[in-house]
Amino acid sequence: MRIVIFGPPGSGKGTYASRLEKRLGIAHISTGDLVREEIRNQTPLGKTIEKYSSSGTLVPDKIITQILKKRLASELSRGFILEGYPRTVGQAKELKKIANIDVVVNLNVPDNVIVKRLSARLQCKNCGAIYNEITMKPKVAGKCDKCGGELFKRVDDQPEVIRERLKVYQEASEPVVDYYRSKNLLKDIVNDDPNVDPEKVVDQIMKAI
Ligand SMILES: [Zn+2]
Repeated sequence: MRIVIFGPPGSGKGTYASRLEKRLGIAHISTGDLVREEIRNQTPLGKTIEKYSSSGTLVPDKIITQILKKRLASELSRGFILEGYPRTVGQAKELKKIANIDVVVNLNVPDNVIVKRLSARLQCKNCGAIYNEITMKPKVAGKCDKCGGELFKRVDDQPEVIRERLKVYQEASEPVVDYYRSKNLLKDIVNDDPNVDPEKVVDQIMKAI
C-alpha cells in the first residue's frame, strides 16, 4: 500500500508514520530525513541543498523530487508511508508520475490542541531527544533520560510562533488537500484530545485505510 500522511506541524504525523511502519511492514519515508541524510553524506545533491539553505533560499522542488524518486524506486512494489511530501499541488502531480498513491491520511487536529501539545515540548540541549511535560515526561524533571543533559523549550514552540506556523501551513496545504479530495483519495482522521494515546490514533488510521 502506498500511503501519504498529511497534517500540520505538531499533529504527530512522524510518530504515527513510524508506528504504521511497524504495523504494516512498509517503509516510513520522510523527506526531511532524506534531505538531512544527503547533507550528512555530502552527496552532490546534499552539497547543492546546503548552498540553498545557507543562503536562506528555499530548496527547489526539483531537487526534493529527485531525492524522493531515488528513494521510492526501491519501495514501489512493497509500498510506503510518505511524510513531508507533497507540499504543493505541483509536487502532488510530480509524485503521481513516480508512484500511484492509494490513500492520503489527513490528520485534523484543532489549533489549540497543537499549541497545547507543542508548547509542552522539551528538548535535550545535548542529544536532541524530545520530551513532553504532559505526555512524555522525563524521569527526573529538567534532565534527559538518555544522557542527563539539560532540557529546554525551543523558541519556535512558543504559542504565538506556533499559531503563525499553523496559519502558514493552512494556506499552503489547502490546495493539496483539495486536490486529493477531488481524486477521492483523502481519509480524514480527527483527533482533538491533546493527551490521546498514539496507538489509538494508529488504530483509527488502520480502520480508515
Ligand atoms: Zn539527552
